Order: sequence, then C-alpha cells, then structure tokens
Amino acid sequence: MRIHRLPALADNYIFLLDDGDGHAAVVDPADAEPVLRQLEELQTELVAIFNTHHHADHVGGNPKLLRHFPNAVVYGGAEDRGRIPGQQVFLQVGDSVWFGERVAEVLFVPGHTRAHIAYYFPPLGAEQVGDLFCGDTLFAGGCGRLFEGTPTQMVSSLSKLRALPDQTRVWCAHEYTFKNLQFALTVDADNLALQHRYAQVKAARQRSEATVPSWLGEEKQTTNAIL
Ligand code: ZN
Ligand code: FE
Repeated sequence: MRIHRLPALADNYIFLLDDGDGHAAVVDPADAEPVLRQLEELQTELVAIFNTHHHADHVGGNPKLLRHFPNAVVYGGAEDRGRIPGQQVFLQVGDSVWFGERVAEVLFVPGHTRAHIAYYFPPLGAEQVGDLFCGDTLFAGGCGRLFEGTPTQMVSSLSKLRALPDQTRVWCAHEYTFKNLQFALTVDADNLALQHRYAQVKAARQRSEATVPSWLGEEKQTTNAIL
C-alpha cells in the first residue's frame, strides 16, 4: 500500500492509499479536486472513503468524489450517523476495514468530537511499519481541540493511541506541528527530546517541508509531561 499525502485547504492533509492494483482509498477528503487529480495521475479507481469525523474539512470532498465514483463506499463512525455525506458503513469498536491486502482496526477516540474514530493498519510482514490515520485526535506534537468531548475522554483516547507500537507512522490531518511544539515547550521546557524536535521542525517548516507523518515513538517521547 502506497500512501500519498495531498495538501488541501489552508493546512489540511488528505491521504490517498494506493493498493498498486488499480484501486485507491482516501482518508478525510477535505476537498475533491486534489484527490481527483491524483487518481487521474495514478489511473486508479476510488473504491473507499475513510472518514474519521464529520467536520467539513474532513468530509467536504465526499459528495463530488461520489459523483465521479458512485461505487465508492463511505466509512465513518456509528455515532456520526447523519453527519457524514454519503456514509454507508457505520463502524464500531472492534470493527475492521479492508483495503487491498491491509486490514485496519477501528479505534473509538472521542474528544475532538463525540464520534471520532481512527484507523490503525498494523504492520504486514517483517520489515513493515504500522500506519495510523487519526484525523484531529492526535497531531504531531499535540492533540485536537475539544469541540464535543471532555478532557478525560481525550486523555483516554490518546492513551489508546499511545498503546500502539513506536514504529507506527502518524498520519494526522493538519500541519499544526510547529505551533504545537511551541506550546508544548511552555509546559515541558526541560524535555530534551522536545527541544530537539522543536529545532528540527522549525528548520523543516522554514524549508516549507511537511512534518507529517511523524513516528508514534517520537510523539511518546515529546509528550512525557502529559500522559
Ligand atoms: Zn475536526
Ligand atoms: Fe480538521
């Protein structure tokens, strides 16, 4: 499975998954256009839309993508029923979703919204790494704002993600890393791993480089003070 990171709107990332066999899936299409362009370039058919939650900057592209690919299946959390355009599959804890030869575990991670889910693809084969699509729950260097959930729910959701292996790529939905680390330093100034990461990310952003995906192991090291 090849993963393409597509910038969209002001600071969103859309992730296009390509199974190498003519099929693609997309995670949180903020906008249809960048997805349609990439599908055209790859000459692939869109078969699935995986949504993490109902916010417009995550589902905005659903209707137009469905007009181009009426057979694509739209997945989202069961609690999001009625809020995700075109949703056909209502996922619950313990459910799995298939894409190509990979299987993702569905994690229920409320906090940013009350219905937020994440998709975790465990490693397949000896040298592979895991892939986590966590929407606006865990960000590189921080977490999402609490719109519908409580701090306790968010901490519990982050703890679920923290239990995943260090060698997991964190595909979060926004480029918020620099601001997150700036804030993190105000509450955890003595954390050497955090200081080092801040300097790295500052330099990367000055070169206009993306900081997503990050490694879950690094997220654990740089959020010691909180969880
Ligand atoms: Zn959101
Ligand atoms: Fe968002």
